Amino acid sequence: MNRKSLFAAVIGLALLAAVPLFTGNPYYIHMVGTIMIYAILLFGLDIVVGYTGQVSLGHAGLFGVGSYTAGVLFMKLGAPLWAIVPASIAVTALFGAVLALPALRVTGPYLAMVTLAFGTIIQILINEMTFLTEGPMGIKIPKPSIAGHQLNENGFYWLVFGLMVISLVVVHRILRSQIGRAFEALRGSPVASDCMGVSVYRYKVYAFVISAGFAGLAGCLYAYSEQYISPNTYNFELTVLFLLAVIMGGRKTRSGALLGAAIIVILPKLLDDLELFRIVATVLATLITVGALVGIVKKLTTPKAMAIPVVGTIALAGFAFWLESITDWRLSIFGLMILFVVYYLQDGIVGFVKNLLHIRKPVFLNAAVTASVPSGQDSVMVAASAGDREAGSDLLIAQGILMQFGGLKAINQVDLRVKRGTIHGLIGPNGSGKSTMMNVLTGIYVPTAGDINFAGRPVVGRTSSDIALSGIARTFQNVQLFGEMTALQNIQVGLHHTFNSNILDVSLHTPRYKREEKAATARGLGLLSFVGLGDLATEEARNLPYGKQRLLEIARALALDPQLLLLDEPAAGLTAPDIKELVAIIRKIRDHGITVILIEHHMDVVMSMCDTVSVLDFGQKIAEGKPADVQANPKVIEAYLGGSAA
Ligand code: ADP
Ligand code: MG
Repeated sequence: MNRKSLFAAVIGLALLAAVPLFTGNPYYIHMVGTIMIYAILLFGLDIVVGYTGQVSLGHAGLFGVGSYTAGVLFMKLGAPLWAIVPASIAVTALFGAVLALPALRVTGPYLAMVTLAFGTIIQILINEMTFLTEGPMGIKIPKPSIAGHQLNENGFYWLVFGLMVISLVVVHRILRSQIGRAFEALRGSPVASDCMGVSVYRYKVYAFVISAGFAGLAGCLYAYSEQYISPNTYNFELTVLFLLAVIMGGRKTRSGALLGAAIIVILPKLLDDLELFRIVATVLATLITVGALVGIVKKLTTPKAMAIPVVGTIALAGFAFWLESITDWRLSIFGLMILFVVYYLQDGIVGFVKNLLHIRKPVFLNAAVTASVPSGQDSVMVAASAGDREAGSDLLIAQGILMQFGGLKAINQVDLRVKRGTIHGLIGPNGSGKSTMMNVLTGIYVPTAGDINFAGRPVVGRTSSDIALSGIARTFQNVQLFGEMTALQNIQVGLHHTFNSNILDVSLHTPRYKREEKAATARGLGLLSFVGLGDLATEEARNLPYGKQRLLEIARALALDPQLLLLDEPAAGLTAPDIKELVAIIRKIRDHGITVILIEHHMDVVMSMCDTVSVLDFGQKIAEGKPADVQANPKVIEAYLGGSAA
């Protein structure tokens, strides 16, 4: 976080803390308290929705688990606050795990269904388990006591405020750490995450569990805040409201979560009061119209783009004055507003404002770290070249590989031996099975038959992330970067394996975590300059030109400290000067002792660099040997001519 936004955050929080001093009205104090409680839940929900990109319709259920853990512990055992808070978090996190383990095997609409069912089951259980929960009767809980004296409305407000700030800091730290980067990476490209040693499944579950922990804390505070809980609070509508709050506020920001919480708490109340609604609608229409005019004059936007928002808000204001009673229209107005946000403000309100003000992602490079990057650059790869691995022995042995898709034998009985320290070319016409071979070697596909042995260990049957961690890194034919993350962060995902810090280290910023983070930044910058992208560290990967994206992908693969690097058509789509640069980089990689398998269509590149070349055609190996011999082989010429004729 840069200085300016930190300053703004501190001022904002100080104002929030001072709310009870401005108003003695318990109604408002309770309302702002509720906003903060919802915000705690939304911080967590945003991890799942905003960062990992999963849908959860189960969060009202988890919220209920938190509330009822608090309620039951108080009612049955008279447990004190200091025991109830951690218990609610732990129990809800456990429920989160129970939900996540099976649910996250599926994706998309199925995940939505499973989480929805979970939420419904929780509500039914609360209703039916009368011996524990009192069923529909509900449970009464007084405001908590600290050190023997019971908190009043203000005291409780500050308790909630304190816990909200702690949650804010913890979530923020988690998301800025290697754990948060793993979450973002698996949204950006699941297959690349797995191939960087970051298990997608494991981190999805992790995200759900952390998120559930926050839902538990929020639920527990909600029980104290309302002083009465009953099953029908935790219904489907609440779940949808939570999701809308994340989307409306703006995903991937904490201020968005707070704003979203404010909207879902205040908006229903606003729509109860016609006078207030008229005022707000008028103010909104004025703001949007003036904003649009200024934007058009300053050429920030076009009249066409602003037409619908301006007409829409003016119509809403007109509608507000035409209405005589609001009660019948509440839901429709609510629905319209939601539609508007989903249509026009896809990054939420906070994202929209940031775009308008051109606020960019904060940049985390401090001078000390940049200065510590070794100027010799190549030392970034020391780890890979170290060791007394015998050159000339076989690093990879694949035998009798058969990969069948239905009736198609994409790879048919192929043997492959790759010697340590060499560049091994893999060529063949389009569709001959080269990429499939890479997918088999990296665990993305499990071969129908055959054995693979890498550095003395079998490969078949292990997960992609496990194979990656044992030393096989790769790039993809269709570039698979984590688009919303910066170039440096992309590489830091590759460096995930260098972290031993757990979530506690991350939350508390222990020396261990700080050391590891600093090392990963230095190493990441080193790798960036190794591929010539040193000055693009803070650029989002999706904004890089294509050639640079390919180089970034190579740097990310090197971050794994691989023994074997698989490059799938790295020169495809590159300009001639870019290709020259690429060739130099691949040579440097080989000189560091990293073995390379290179799939390439540019014959000059293959012929000038490879020590050995294997040729595939229709899934079968038709030739193998020194580049010059292979090039002269009649079978190979035939395959290529046949291939190009087709
Ligand atoms: P190359 O990389 O040599 O151009 P590929 O390995 O991508 O070729 O593809 C080899 C063959 O396997 C093609 O016929 C392709 O259509 C087929 N293939 C690859 N992946 C799959 C899959 N997941 N399902 C079905 N067929 C596939
Ligand atoms: Mg291919």
